[in-house]
Amino acid sequence: MSQQEQIKTEDFYLYDKKVVCPLCKSTINVKAVRNSRLRLVKRDTDSMAVYQDINPLFYDVWLCNHCGYARLQNQFPNPVLPAEANLIRQNISSKWQPRDYPPTYSPQVAIERYKLALYGAMVREAKSSELGMLYLKLAWIYRSLSDQANEITCMQQACRYLEKAFQDEEPPVLGMDSATHMYLIGELHRRLGNFDKALRWFGEVLLSPKASKALKDKTRDQKDLVIEATKSTS
Ligand SMILES: [Zn+2]
Repeated sequence: MSQQEQIKTEDFYLYDKKVVCPLCKSTINVKAVRNSRLRLVKRDTDSMAVYQDINPLFYDVWLCNHCGYARLQNQFPNPVLPAEANLIRQNISSKWQPRDYPPTYSPQVAIERYKLALYGAMVREAKSSELGMLYLKLAWIYRSLSDQANEITCMQQACRYLEKAFQDEEPPVLGMDSATHMYLIGELHRRLGNFDKALRWFGEVLLSPKASKALKDKTRDQKDLVIEATKSTS
């Protein structure tokens, strides 16, 4: 076996990065993924990406071990408003016990870090889109473990928060235009077996003048799956 063909350990994809915690201003070390080294294996119809050798989702929550502030890495550096800072200090930092994290994260460690990020987001009354994305990524981790019960529970929450974000927030939401956002909600409903709701959201995508041809094609495929599934259950 040549060197290139060997299975790479997670270390090959990770590096340590120093960042400043926006809450307590400590300089902390976080694990970051070398995106240029990732090799995509497949992408599910709700956008979950599967990569060779590593699940980068495991490293997507950054956490300050001094104060307990935890957030998805692309939002971690965002400034914390004074009201949010007070809520986190009172409810999280005051009780925070630093934890030991191994150099690479097991699924259990990753899940715990997502739960800390979710708790923090609820404490500071984060936007629905942020809660929706945390629940969606946690659902994807459970999917990668074939833990269907927890995947469904998290997908239900993700769907609920993403619907709320669609009502309350101006696009782009989480980098998605409104048609892509509607498709994602429809696809989550389809996966949850909420076929009437899935068809309604897919219908909206197909009517949307802003949706690209590629998105409409994908939506038609998923709509056909719903119609097939409805036939086989009736
Ligand atoms: Zn901190």
